[in-house]
Order: sequence, then C-alpha cells, then structure tokens
Amino acid sequence: MVRLWKWLPGERSTIEQENDVALAIAAVSNAFAVFLIDTFTTIESAVAVFYVIIMLVAADFLSRLGILAAAAMCATLCVTSFFLSHGIDNDLATFLRLVGSLSALIITTALLFKNETSRLALLASHNRTRSSEYRYRSIFKQSGVALWEQDLTALNALLEDLRSNGVVDLCAYSRANPDFSKTCTDAIRTVAVNDAALEILGSITHEQALGPISRFIPHDCPSLFGFVNAFFNGQRRFESKGRIRNFHGEESVILMAVEFPEDQSGLDRIVIGLVDITEREAAQATMMAAQAELARASRASAVGALSASLAHELNQPLGALLMNAQACLRWLNRNPPDLNAAIRAAERTMRDGERASQIVKTTKAMLSRTPIASEKVDLLELVEETRTLLEYEIERQNVSVDLMSPPNLPPANASKSELQQVLINLITNAMQAMEEAGSRVRRISVRLSTSETGFVVMSVSDTGPGLSSEAIENVFEPYFTTKPFGMGMGLAICKSMVESRGGKLSVRNNDNSGATFEIALPVESKGRLTRMYDVPQMVARIG
Ligand code: ADP
Repeated sequence: MVRLWKWLPGERSTIEQENDVALAIAAVSNAFAVFLIDTFTTIESAVAVFYVIIMLVAADFLSRLGILAAAAMCATLCVTSFFLSHGIDNDLATFLRLVGSLSALIITTALLFKNETSRLALLASHNRTRSSEYRYRSIFKQSGVALWEQDLTALNALLEDLRSNGVVDLCAYSRANPDFSKTCTDAIRTVAVNDAALEILGSITHEQALGPISRFIPHDCPSLFGFVNAFFNGQRRFESKGRIRNFHGEESVILMAVEFPEDQSGLDRIVIGLVDITEREAAQATMMAAQAELARASRASAVGALSASLAHELNQPLGALLMNAQACLRWLNRNPPDLNAAIRAAERTMRDGERASQIVKTTKAMLSRTPIASEKVDLLELVEETRTLLEYEIERQNVSVDLMSPPNLPPANASKSELQQVLINLITNAMQAMEEAGSRVRRISVRLSTSETGFVVMSVSDTGPGLSSEAIENVFEPYFTTKPFGMGMGLAICKSMVESRGGKLSVRNNDNSGATFEIALPVESKGRLTRMYDVPQMVARIG
C-alpha cells in the first residue's frame, strides 16, 4: 500500500499522532514561509537551504515515499521561487546559489532515505527475532520433552576463575575439594521450565522451579559433575543418565542432554532436555530379575532333560546287559554247561557294558562342555557294527535288517558314538512300533546314498504302522511319546545330535506301510558346534 506517513495505523499513541500532525503543519507553513522570503525579498543568500531543515523535521513522520514527495515539493518551490524572483536572465552567482540549495536538498533527501531504509531493515530484523523468539517460546512451552533453561554465567565465572588459577584437571580438583560439586549446583540457576519439566520436578508452579539447581540435583550425582566437566573442557554436547530429586523429595532417573553454545553470549539461557526414565529403568530391573529367574529355571529343566536323556540312552544297553548276563548264567547252569555259548553271552555283556560306559562318557563330555570332535565316519561299517550290537534284540523280535549301499560311499563328517546312538534309537523305535502293531512282516531297511548337495544320506524304513499326522508334527519334540512307558526323549536327542553336526533328521510315512527316518550328514565339515547335543536348545524347545 502506498503510504506517505511513516507509522502504521495503531502504531502511535494519540498524543504522538497529535505531535506528528503539529510537526507536519509546522513543516508545511515553514516551507511556505521560506518560499515567500525567497521569492519576494532581496536577501542575496541561499535561503532555499532552509528547505533542508524542513526536510529534517518532516523525516520524523514521513515514509520513504513521503520523504521523496516532500523533497520534490521543496525542490519545486525552490526552482519556482528562483524563476519568479530572477526571471530567465540571471547571473552566475544567483544560479550557483540555486544549484547549492538543490544539492543540499538532494544530499539531505538521500541521507534521510538511507536512514529510513536502515530503520526499516532494523525493524524487519527485530520482527524476525521477535517471531523466532515467539516460536522458540511456544515450542519450549508445549514440548512433550521436559526442557529446563539454566543460567550458567555464574558457573562460567567460577570455572574461569579456576582456569586462571592454573586448574586444568577438574576431576583432580574436585577430588581435592569435596565441596566443589555443591558450589557448582549452587552456581547454576534455573531461569525457565516448561510444563513437562514441571511435572518431573513434582507438579509444581513455574516460580517454585526457579532458582539454584541444587534444590533438584543431588550434588553427589555423577552426571552433574560430568556436565560441569564437559562445560569446563569446552565440549559442545553432553548426554548422561542421572538422578533428580523432585520438590517433594522423591527421586527419579532421568536422561539429560544439553548443547553448549559456541560463544559465551547464550550462557544465560542454556536448555537442558530431560527424559524421565524411572519406569523404563524399573521395567528393565524387573526384566533382568525375570531373566535371572528364567536362567535358573532353564538350568533346572536342563538338568531334568539331561537326566531324562541319560535314563533313556542307558535303558537299552543296561537291558541288553541284563539279558546277556542271564543268558550266560543259563548256559552255565545247563548240565553239562555250554561253555562256548556262555562265553559268547559274557562277551556280549562286556560289549553292552562298554556301550553304557561310552554313553556316560559322552554325557560327561557334554557337561564339561568339551566338544566332541567330528571325524570321518564310515557309515557302512557303522551300520554293520550297530546291527551286531542289537543282534540279540533283532533275533528275539524276529526282525530282518537289510542294508543297501552304493559302492564308494564317502564317509560322513560326524561323531561315530553319537551317530551310533542315533541309529540304535531309530532301529529300536522301528522294532517297537512293529511289535506293538503286531506287524506280520517285520523288516527294517537301512539305505545309504549320497545327495547332490554334498550330503551322505542314511534312511531307516520299517514295515510298521507308520505315524499319525499328529505324531509326524511332534515326533521330534521332547517328551512326545505314544508309548505307555515311553519318555519321548530319543528322537529329540537324535535330532539335536544330527543338527549339531550340520545335518538334518526328517521323517515321512512310506507309501505302503511303515515310516522312514532319514539322516542327512555333510561330507565336509560344516564348522558347526560339535557338542553331543545342545541342552539350551532342547530346553528352549521343551519350553
Ligand atoms: P519314546 O520311544 O520314548 O516314545 P521317541 O522320541 O524315541 O520316544 O519316540 C517318540 C514317538 O515317536 C514314539 O512314542 C512313537 O509314537 C513315535 N515313533 C518313533 N519311531 C517310530 C516308528 N518307526 N514308527 C512309528 N512311530 C514311531
């Protein structure tokens, strides 16, 4: 909007407006007076220079446009008066006086114009500062983060004093002067707080929150010293976890963050951001206690799982051992005693005893966390040995065990004793399933092969009833059993053992009858953990 007047409506009080009007009238009448004197008197001097004074007076209430308009008017009056009093024929001195008057007017106008421009720029900058301050204040007030404005000028003076006395290590100084922290908390003063901070400080009023910070921060709080030390060392940022004592004496845990200014100009208003983490800390403590409790429970159930697995694994060799010992006695009690048969039974008894002892050794190795090294296991040899080991049971249950293997089968990378335990479990399960179901044909087929993905595969199929869909889903879960006196640990242990060697154990029902368990083991070491089986993993699965 084009405006001659300097002030915006409403910017001036009534008295000021009246003054401006009076000045305007005075300026106009003075201009007119100067014009009359210049035109109708014979004063031979540059009377027109008085227009300059009028311009200076008018500049007090005129806008930049107004200044230009007034200058144009004065110049017009000056020139008009010149031609009216001297006509067209005039001497050089008179003409130079006119030029001098006009020059003075132009220079004055330029200076006034510049002055008004600077004033407007200053005003705009002031307005920007004001609106930025307003924005900051509204963010400060409405922020959900607790903000605390502190005046650090006294603290700064204190630290400067120490520095000039040669203190360079504030930690050492603080150790030597136990009261130093208290002096610091007394020197830091709160000058403003927002609503969120008031809540942390105990839902108090703004006035109650102002004053020395020592009322809220215990002077022995390490983060307070950290804050002072960071400031002393010229750090730009400081973040720490600390304690705050509210107005009513209750303590909370807070996270504080502050950004120090580059120069000393803003030291009277340093904003500290606070986040109350008391609940989070309490939840964390509860969680850690729960974790410790869980670890204790895990250890307890690991021991349970271990005992169960040990009982399961020892069951078979101990049973066989008993039977072979009984057979040995029977052969000896015969009349005449069959010594050869008794010797064979005694040899079997020894072999079963060795197996039981091997199981105990493996379990001990696992408990002492001694890894059982992987080795190259010849599967054909392993199956033959296992078949001999179980021959008594195989014969007793009238089962045939077939073995099929391609020539040049590569050895598997595994632990032989573990793998034997797995195979014994699978064959024993198959025999039990066929017996329970009263299967007419009782055949177990062990097939060895290689896969294209670098695994040797050993599958154990039977002609039993196969598995129900529920059993297929859960058969490897610890404690899953369908047998009246089963423990449900065998297959869980087998799976852990195979997987700990980087292999896989799976099950499927056969097309005709029975089930097939398949073990795939890597030919090369997969670099996996080589423990007998992973108790924590099993416990997790039990959970
Ligand atoms: P347990 O022998 O103590 O029951 P396992 O983990 O060895 O424990 O076996 C779990 C269950 O899997 C058995 O109770 C049985 O129901 C099922 N199972 C295992 N092997 C066979 C199989 N060859 N045929 C049918 N069911 C089987």
